[in-house]
Amino acid sequence: MEKKREWTLPAAGPVVEPLICAGDQTLASLTVPEGVEVLGAKAFSQCGELRVLRLPRSLTHIDMKCFEGCPLEDVYYGGSAEQWARLEISPQGSEGLLAARKHFAGGGAVSPLRPREDRGGDLLERLRGILAAGGDGRLHIAAPGLCVDGVLTKPGDMTLLIFPEGATMLIDTGHAPNRSRAMEFLRGIGLRSLDYMAFSHADLDHVSNAGEIGDYLYGPGGGGIRHFWWTGQRFGDIVPAFIKFLRARGTELDLRVRAGRRFWIQGVEVQILGPTEEELLLDPADQEIRNSQSMMMRFALGRASYLTCGDLYAAQEAAAAARCGEALRADVAKSNHHGCFTSNTDGWLDAVGARFVFSCGNDSGSTALVRELRRRGAACFSTGCQGTLLFSLSPGGGCEALTQYDGEMRCIQRVN
Ligand SMILES: [Zn+2]
Repeated sequence: MEKKREWTLPAAGPVVEPLICAGDQTLASLTVPEGVEVLGAKAFSQCGELRVLRLPRSLTHIDMKCFEGCPLEDVYYGGSAEQWARLEISPQGSEGLLAARKHFAGGGAVSPLRPREDRGGDLLERLRGILAAGGDGRLHIAAPGLCVDGVLTKPGDMTLLIFPEGATMLIDTGHAPNRSRAMEFLRGIGLRSLDYMAFSHADLDHVSNAGEIGDYLYGPGGGGIRHFWWTGQRFGDIVPAFIKFLRARGTELDLRVRAGRRFWIQGVEVQILGPTEEELLLDPADQEIRNSQSMMMRFALGRASYLTCGDLYAAQEAAAAARCGEALRADVAKSNHHGCFTSNTDGWLDAVGARFVFSCGNDSGSTALVRELRRRGAACFSTGCQGTLLFSLSPGGGCEALTQYDGEMRCIQRVN
């Protein structure tokens, strides 16, 4: 590869692809040309000499970890400070970019941001009412906004399902740095017990609040956890410790939940679509394998359905699509791996065909996914942009979506 101490990215359309120049140790100064709108995830990450950056006024999005590990000192931006403040910058891995000295070309006044209505309290109230009434005949999927001011790591996955007659299922627990928000949500809706708890896989951003949630439900909550579902993935200490905790308290443990299993909960058919027995034999020490061993679950109430598959990567999405075919189709789907560029391929979106797709994180997931979903006419949500989300499915196939903040995909947590 040629030496490029000072380099201007060749103009090639509005989107710079993820990882395009990651790890280039010769790059000291980078100019992104006017016309570029999106810098993809990790595009210039770990460029160990990159100190000077010139960004165009046309830019609108900088995805996760774009400049992570770069010793950035000076950032020259083609617009004004006000325009810079409107850029969507994923908080993940952006510490260096945010801390670098900024030089603004000026000009370009912007209209003030509309203050955003916060309906978080109403959403908690609504969930509390549904729980207190013992359900309302619908299947509800709640994804709480877990962002904590000043915490830039990803907040992880946590979703709560409420079945038609009020049974509850918590899938994953969120990440330890965001524990306070996870607990606030569970307490806020008046949750005192869980009928079911399941972990998609053993990564920290999915399981590291398990102990706290268990302590709460067996302490002040008082109602405990009736059933626990797990694939048996062998990784880390948290899940084994939690299983030990539950076993001592009489929870019914199902530790072989995998492809082919099928359950009925209050008129909802729960199909386990992955992982398979063979996939669980692979070594979960490898990050991609571990994520791709996520529990894949499809919930169907009459004609309405929900699909949640943890952190599947693209290769596993293709394998699952080939194996499951039509069984993947769903009205509402959680994006895989927090909406990240490793996942959610066009082939996967085709196979699922969801009308509503949401990501759990502190950003939009990835700008490419948001754009692709819009192109398909699907509604797109993220807890990082819209806070707490609630999807309510009716047996006739209807689906209602409520969000804490307005529909615009604008990051809540301003980090710059
Ligand atoms: Zn994750």
